[in-house]
Amino acid sequence: MGEKLLEIKGLTKYFPVKGSYIHKSFVQAVDDVSFHINRGETLGLVGESGCGKTTIGRTILRLHEPTSGSIFYDGVDITKVNMTPYRKKMQIVFQDPYASLNPRMTVADIVGEAIDIHKLAASSKDRKDMIVSLLERVGLNSEHATRYPHEFSGGQRQRIGIARSLAVSPEFIVCDEPISALDVSIQAQIINMFEDLQDKLGLTYLFIAHDLSVVKHISDRIGVMYLGKLVEVTDSKELYKHPLHPYTQSLLSAIPIPDPKLSRGRKRIILEGDVPSPVNPPSGCRFRTRCQYAMEVCSAEVPMMIEHEPGHFAACHLLNK
Ligand code: SF4
Repeated sequence: MGEKLLEIKGLTKYFPVKGSYIHKSFVQAVDDVSFHINRGETLGLVGESGCGKTTIGRTILRLHEPTSGSIFYDGVDITKVNMTPYRKKMQIVFQDPYASLNPRMTVADIVGEAIDIHKLAASSKDRKDMIVSLLERVGLNSEHATRYPHEFSGGQRQRIGIARSLAVSPEFIVCDEPISALDVSIQAQIINMFEDLQDKLGLTYLFIAHDLSVVKHISDRIGVMYLGKLVEVTDSKELYKHPLHPYTQSLLSAIPIPDPKLSRGRKRIILEGDVPSPVNPPSGCRFRTRCQYAMEVCSAEVPMMIEHEPGHFAACHLLNK
């Protein structure tokens, strides 16, 4: 670890609001976000629904075109290049294993599609062997190849989605809330499988989740997002021990602790109000309408991302005093 595989700088993605022809307005889904992911590392990205984390994942893969900013993959800015060679290196596992698999295709065809597109098999026997080996890699077997998605459980369908993403031997995978649609009993199995695949194949992950407890074990570092902005990023253990940003502190205070003694001694931070609209976000710090520490400067100036401890970045005026 240590060598940057992916780096985004000032990444911004605005979507035009349908019907706003005269006074054009935009959903400011992602606004001036910068971070990097080292080779072989997992960066967890968390935040409430609609905070822009999925948009970041998709924009990195150029499934959305960025409004501005740069995306460096292995040192190359891929915002302006033909993505064909990068489609093999960068893959995605989607959130909903029920919606992301074509119900009319067999598992062999779903997994084999990428093998065909990228012409990775020398013969039909080669293709079949590759599909079986991919299915075995995710805990399925050759008998599953001729079946259709509806014949599988949620966990098994997500395994099929993962096998599909592995078909092109990628280096980097955006895991877009891959366990949030699954039963809690299955979630740990899928997380363990992601970790196991990372060890065996040297994969690098951007692991998106809306819950800090989900990313705790799998992430080396964690980034926290609020309303299109990255507000804090640091080593995973450091984030849990020493959260700096008020929003991160409130997210952590909401995680249940299994020990009743510890749980009694902890203060829960309840956020007032709702997340503001990303079409018209608050000026200055976007969190200020819900922050118990908000000051005058918070509405006037956007807080910059500053390194407060080695490798621990946060964007909050309170920390700069
Ligand atoms: Fe709260 Fe101000 Fe810090 Fe924003 S910048 S989190 S409003 S103290």
